Amino acid sequence: MKSFEKLLLANKAWSTEKKIIDPGFFERLAETQKPEFLWIGCSDSRVPAEIIVNAKPGEMFIHRNIANQMIATDFNCLSVLQYAVEVLQVKHIIVCGHYNCGGVKAALAKQSPSLIITNKWLMHIKQTYRLYKDEIDALPSETQRINRLVELNIIEQAQILAHTSIVQNAWHQHQRPVIHGWVYGLSDGLINPLITLTPDTEIDPVFQYDFPLQTAS
Ligand SMILES: [Zn+2]
Repeated sequence: MKSFEKLLLANKAWSTEKKIIDPGFFERLAETQKPEFLWIGCSDSRVPAEIIVNAKPGEMFIHRNIANQMIATDFNCLSVLQYAVEVLQVKHIIVCGHYNCGGVKAALAKQSPSLIITNKWLMHIKQTYRLYKDEIDALPSETQRINRLVELNIIEQAQILAHTSIVQNAWHQHQRPVIHGWVYGLSDGLINPLITLTPDTEIDPVFQYDFPLQTAS
């Protein structure tokens, strides 16, 4: 059997098992989705979002890319964010990175100029490295330097989320969502929270939007 055929077979077994355990499972899911969480994670195959938090289908809206980045000009990411916040009305956004992230490791190294796309994508992590270069370079081992940049990258992405007009508007209008920055350990399977940004978080004036005062009618 070819490797991809195993996936199709596994899918049949999964579907059959679900129907036996809960006969109405797929009918209910097919009707609508109302996830409480938007998950922004790394594409790394060892960090499967639903599995590591034991989430069921329908519980998390998910966006994954190399090194869990929220780039304010990335229409893919922004489309996911806007749909999750404004249509699905998620209550929480979780940015979850992981230690020993290959994307972060690559951003700390010199890349071949021929890797045009990868270099462009990693440029954003390099900008975070530039901001914290003294702190990171002072760490004694490469593993520690990578892992500290992993943490700082997650914190940075959480803050970038708070700087978007989509999140600021939702905070202003609806007092949600809460933004969480989490880091996952590949070696122990555990998640540690790094940062929480609630809707009353003070935004750096540089990134604040000007919301008109609402008048009573
Ligand atoms: Zn990664």
